[in-house]
Amino acid sequence: MTRGGPTRPAVGAVIVAAGSGTRMGRPKQFLPLCGLPVCEWALKAFLDCPEVVKVALVLSPENIGLHGARLAGERVAVVPGGATRMGSVRNGFAALPPEVDAVAVHDGARPLVTPAVIRAAVEAALRTGAAVVSVPAKDTLKRAAPDGTVAETPDRAQYWQAQTPQAYRRGVLADALSRFAQEADATDESQLVERTGQKVSIVEGSYENIKVTTPEDLVTAEAFLSSRLGRPSERTGFGYDIHRLVEGRPLMLAGVEVPHTKGLLGHSDGDAALHAACDAVLGAMGDGEIGIAFPPSDPRFKGLDSRRIVEHVLEKAAARGAAIEHLDVTLVAEEPKLKPHYGRMADSLAACFRLERGRVNLKAKSHEGLGEIGRGEAIACYAVATVRLRSGAVAPL
Ligand code: MG
Repeated sequence: MTRGGPTRPAVGAVIVAAGSGTRMGRPKQFLPLCGLPVCEWALKAFLDCPEVVKVALVLSPENIGLHGARLAGERVAVVPGGATRMGSVRNGFAALPPEVDAVAVHDGARPLVTPAVIRAAVEAALRTGAAVVSVPAKDTLKRAAPDGTVAETPDRAQYWQAQTPQAYRRGVLADALSRFAQEADATDESQLVERTGQKVSIVEGSYENIKVTTPEDLVTAEAFLSSRLGRPSERTGFGYDIHRLVEGRPLMLAGVEVPHTKGLLGHSDGDAALHAACDAVLGAMGDGEIGIAFPPSDPRFKGLDSRRIVEHVLEKAAARGAAIEHLDVTLVAEEPKLKPHYGRMADSLAACFRLERGRVNLKAKSHEGLGEIGRGEAIACYAVATVRLRSGAVAPL
């Protein structure tokens, strides 16, 4: 099959992003990185190659629920992961159209892959059958003996560190996956291809194409991406909100219900914490306030779940390549006492904004009995957001 001319091959891609991320403490593929989840940078690089006709994005069932509908599209099939990496590769491969000439398999935890590296791997695979992107080993290697001493210092010049993408003519990969169908422990599929007798070419890649495995890798990836995107600027935004406390409504704060005899009155669910936090993020981006997109006069937003407002703000941030560095939220309430609910509210705030827990802080103050807040007639909220913006990503006037 050809597209856009007689010489362009049709390429399928499998992006494996179904791992559990045990070394990171949580699945690493959806950690935020310069305004996009880690694996979406990889997806973007493949979609930037017009010869890639279909990407099978292999996700865990949980992430299919959270992100599947948003990520699936004409060129993207969202596919459930298998029990092992090879199971995931098989599921992804099965979702590609049979007409593709080559298949590139990529690790969703390598966000710094570029279209140039993808093309180099695919071209080598079409020429030779199979190709693995690798970099020459930089460190002196030691082989350890069982007693923990050095058994041997091999010649470093002969060693390469394998990365992804790894690309294959379609038939070569199909053959390896079917002949070694029971293979569970392989850490990459090229070792199965080697076992079929097929030579695997080495394509020199880039040391930037790191795998995000441990927390410090995220710092490195962020530094590489930021330099590609241009010098980022950090901005601070402030948000404020107040709602009246009335009988007969649930008290929603930071996306969770806090037990109380009253709740916040509002056209929406009245969640002052989410409203203030959203306004703070919009403020940092120079992007107005939540009432512009969600006017209280609009009947469509009656009873609105404020998490939808957060989604809207996150979409705006992603479109600008803006990354929320930190949210600090201060509630002011005489009643109920909010301290017992700090943990739940802060966890929910982090989840709503898809931030690591360490990037949010939530606290509450009483109003010392003063004024309407002090009389328990209202709850107010202040929020400060620190947001990193890609250069040129500041909203136009
Ligand atoms: Mg409000």
